[in-house]
Amino acid sequence: MYLCAAVKDLKEIIKYTFLYKGTAALVVVCNLLFVVFNLLSLVLFIPILQLIFSNPDTAVRPIPAPTMESLLDVGNYLKQSYEYHMAQWVQSDPKMALLGVCISVFLAFFLKNFFRYGAVWFQSELRMAVVRDLRNSLFNRALVLPLSYHSNERKGDLMARMNSDVGEIEIAVVSVLELLFREPIAVIINLITLILLSPELTLFSLFLLPVSAFVISRISKSLKKTAKLGQEQTGLLYAAIDEALNGIRIVKAFGAIRFVQTRFERINLIHQKLITKTFRKKDLAPLLNETIGALIMLLIVWFGGVLILDHRGVGLSGEVFLTFIIVFSQLLRPIQGISTSLSNLAKARVSLDRINEVLNQPEVILEEKDPTILTDFTNRLTFQNVSFSYQSDPILCDLNLEIKKGQTIALVGESGSGKSTLLDLIPRFYDPSSGALFIDGINIKQFSIDSLRSKIGMVTQEPLLFNGSVLDNIAFGEDFPDLEKATRAAKIANAYSFIMALESGFDYNIGDRGNKLSGGQKQRISIARAIYKNPEILLLDEATSALDTESERLVQEALDEIMKGKTSIVVAHRLSTVVNADLILVMSKGVITEQGSHEQLLSKNGDYAHFCRLQGLK
Ligand code: ADP
Ligand code: MG
Repeated sequence: MYLCAAVKDLKEIIKYTFLYKGTAALVVVCNLLFVVFNLLSLVLFIPILQLIFSNPDTAVRPIPAPTMESLLDVGNYLKQSYEYHMAQWVQSDPKMALLGVCISVFLAFFLKNFFRYGAVWFQSELRMAVVRDLRNSLFNRALVLPLSYHSNERKGDLMARMNSDVGEIEIAVVSVLELLFREPIAVIINLITLILLSPELTLFSLFLLPVSAFVISRISKSLKKTAKLGQEQTGLLYAAIDEALNGIRIVKAFGAIRFVQTRFERINLIHQKLITKTFRKKDLAPLLNETIGALIMLLIVWFGGVLILDHRGVGLSGEVFLTFIIVFSQLLRPIQGISTSLSNLAKARVSLDRINEVLNQPEVILEEKDPTILTDFTNRLTFQNVSFSYQSDPILCDLNLEIKKGQTIALVGESGSGKSTLLDLIPRFYDPSSGALFIDGINIKQFSIDSLRSKIGMVTQEPLLFNGSVLDNIAFGEDFPDLEKATRAAKIANAYSFIMALESGFDYNIGDRGNKLSGGQKQRISIARAIYKNPEILLLDEATSALDTESERLVQEALDEIMKGKTSIVVAHRLSTVVNADLILVMSKGVITEQGSHEQLLSKNGDYAHFCRLQGLK
């Protein structure tokens, strides 16, 4: 039962490990050679022990010439021939033999550690390659997943999955190789050696195996549960860090340092407790196993010792007994290793589930199998009976709308009426719950997402810029920015003169999120970015709302300039900016309540007229 679960855990980790077959194979080979030389470094001593400890008065026990009755006997044959030749050498030139053995033992030690390092060498490459791949696919996935997936709480969670969960897989990849190829082989080789040395005593040592298996399975089970809680808490921890550092300005301004700190410390404390618990459980199994192993070893010492003291040891000489104990102690290490690896796998299983959860997250915004490429927007953009809701509450209700190419449409309405949501449907950040959008009569779902979005430019209230140069930000997403085009865009966006006044002009690094620029400057860069892309449809969502009057004037001029000859949908807080729109839509609670030109709406004397009066526009 437990084994089944363990095998299932293994399968997926193995899949990742053997993505790099060559490297994995090298690790395995190095590990095998390590095991062999480790054993050799210990057993090569036996005949010499015999030489040194044997009483010079009694003749050295005669060693029979090696014989091989069957192929199965090959181990015994090797042992016999080694002993036979050594005995001959010892008899002819004991000091040379001693020197020879010392040199070969040193060689065995050297090779053992050489191959151990070889294994580590290739392991490092393998584990980091797997980590890189996993991070790449997680990051890719995170970029592809729809906006609805990315709420703030998810950010910390995603970071935890990319960091600490991937770290668990990294450990497991190494463990799985040891578990499959090193430890079992070490156990088998050591066991065979023990049988060759003394079958009776070996029977005793076999008790170790089932007891260990039991200990491991009990602890792994409880470990998984704790590990899961721990990783979830890591997500909360990252989210708290991210939120606090992004909002550091507000944290300071509101004197909330203590408040935020206390909240963080609370999350951190729970994290500490959970992870401590995980470590404690994880490290318990190998230690218990070692203790049990030591107990069994001492039982053997007692049992074998009594046999020898009573002179009943069936061919059990002192040096064989000593070697047996040494080899047996070597059996403990791989068993401990198996138990560590299984603990690691149990932890990795939890992380793997969390990683797969992201990788298997369904993409809600799907492309058609054979998407049409949107080459030109020639005629009109239509909303047909469009409804939308984020969760259960309807946000947009049965909207019908037609926007002709070249028109400027203004959306006004109180905050929360669904204006931004309406804009988000056009580049398919969300799909309508019912109804559809059409460009030139074709449902936008039929276009390839890339070609659709390449026709759309966006300027939002909060200008989202990235750490990099001014040029990189204007030509965002392009590998080879075109300075000339960027200069033209900057000029139209009223940004050219301030860019030129910057220390290094277009190469100036604007800092994280563009924080080295003022609000108005950031917004003008984001407008230049939209112009650089030369879109056919412009979506402006309260692009000037966050600015002071002077910046607003500059930005508004820039916007007026780029809207020329484009189809634009403008959400504006300040009505003075929408007076010239071809069509003004008034939204309230997800429905369009009024529409018409400025004059028409004023004469209607409805909501729009009311807004205008509030802003002193009439
Ligand atoms: P507006 O831009 O007109 O101020 P929005 O389109 O941003 O309004 O929001 C419309 C409604 O949708 C609001 O009631 C808001 O609470 C809700 N809303 C916006 N974004 C989300 C979201 N990601 N998840 C759930 N509800 C949302
Ligand atoms: Mg909005």
